[in-house]
Parts: sequence; C-alpha cells; structure tokens
Amino acid sequence: MAGYLEARPRVGYFYTGKTGTQLLADKIKKMKVSDYQSIPVVINENVSVYDAIVTMFLEDVGTLFVVDDESLLVGALSRKDLLRASIGKQELTSIPVNIIMTRMPNITFCEKDDLLIDVAQKLIEKQIDAMPVVKKVDKGYEVVGRITKTNMTKVLVALANEDVL
Ligand code: ADP
Repeated sequence: MAGYLEARPRVGYFYTGKTGTQLLADKIKKMKVSDYQSIPVVINENVSVYDAIVTMFLEDVGTLFVVDDESLLVGALSRKDLLRASIGKQELTSIPVNIIMTRMPNITFCEKDDLLIDVAQKLIEKQIDAMPVVKKVDKGYEVVGRITKTNMTKVLVALANEDVL
C-alpha cells in the first residue's frame, strides 16, 4: 500500500488521499537523469564526416556528440546531419564534422542531477532525439553521458513492470 497510507508517530496509519495516478506522477517526478543515462559516444571535431558515419554504424547510436582537443563539448551530429552532407557533392573524407554539426551554444544538454521528466519535456520542445549529460568544468562542459528517446521508452516499460528505483 506504499503511498496510499502514511504512518505518523503516536497517531498510527492514515489515508493520504492520493490516487494511483497521483502516486505514479510523484514517482516519475523523482526520477533523476543519473539513474537512466547511457554511455555517450563522442568524436573529435576534426574527424571527417566519413569517419563519423562509420562511428555511428559501429557504435549503433543515432546522435554523436562532438568535442574539441580538450574534450569539451562543441557540437552534436544527428543521422540527418550526416545524410544531408552525404547527398551533397562534397568529399566526405576531407570535410571535418565541425563544418556540418549543430554547435555550441545551441546544444541542449542536461546534468546528472536533473529530473528526467524535465529532460523529456526538453526533448519534445526542441524536437531532438538525444542530449548529452554534461559536467561543468572551468573552460566548458565535459560529456559524461547521454539521454535519448530510447532511455525514455525504457522508463515507460520499467514503470509498467514496477521496476523503478
Ligand atoms: P535527426 O536530424 O536525425 O532527425 P534529431 O531530431 O535529434 O535527429 O536532430 C535534429 C537536429 O537537431 C540536427 O540538426 C541535430 O544536429 C540537432 N541536434 C541533435 N541533438 C541536439 C542537441 N542535444 N542540442 C541541439 N541540437 C541538437
């Protein structure tokens, strides 16, 4: 009866008045990014578009995060960014990804202690599939994880299976 009843010292148990849906919403609003994030796939900004495509296949991800020589976040690359570059008449082995990526400060990111529901809201608002989980350092942001629509789908399944932290 977790959530339906609460205990108070010297009073005993009492009915909280919360419906099942309210209790579920409470649970969702407590979920943190750190409990559901995946390992990020990052590439250097000087890597060619060709190598980025190969990395996307090998790593089996839909979004690559781009970092500079100091491992700081500088951009993001989606499947369609790479497709767009591929249908042009450009030499894919000689164009670096920093020419075609979406770049900082336009990258939407989150931090490990953010609420998962806020991140889900941002994915919808910005119409993107993924965002990096970052850690603030002196000169910028390091990429420590990633949150994608797949992570959100897994949350839905975990909730249905009552398999949440
Ligand atoms: P696709 O373009 O393959 O459908 P997305 O919807 O994720 O994939 O990407 C749409 C555009 O948004 C792309 O140009 C991509 O570079 C950019 N993008 C992807 N992720 C982010 C992000 N976290 N922040 C800002 N822009 C992003």
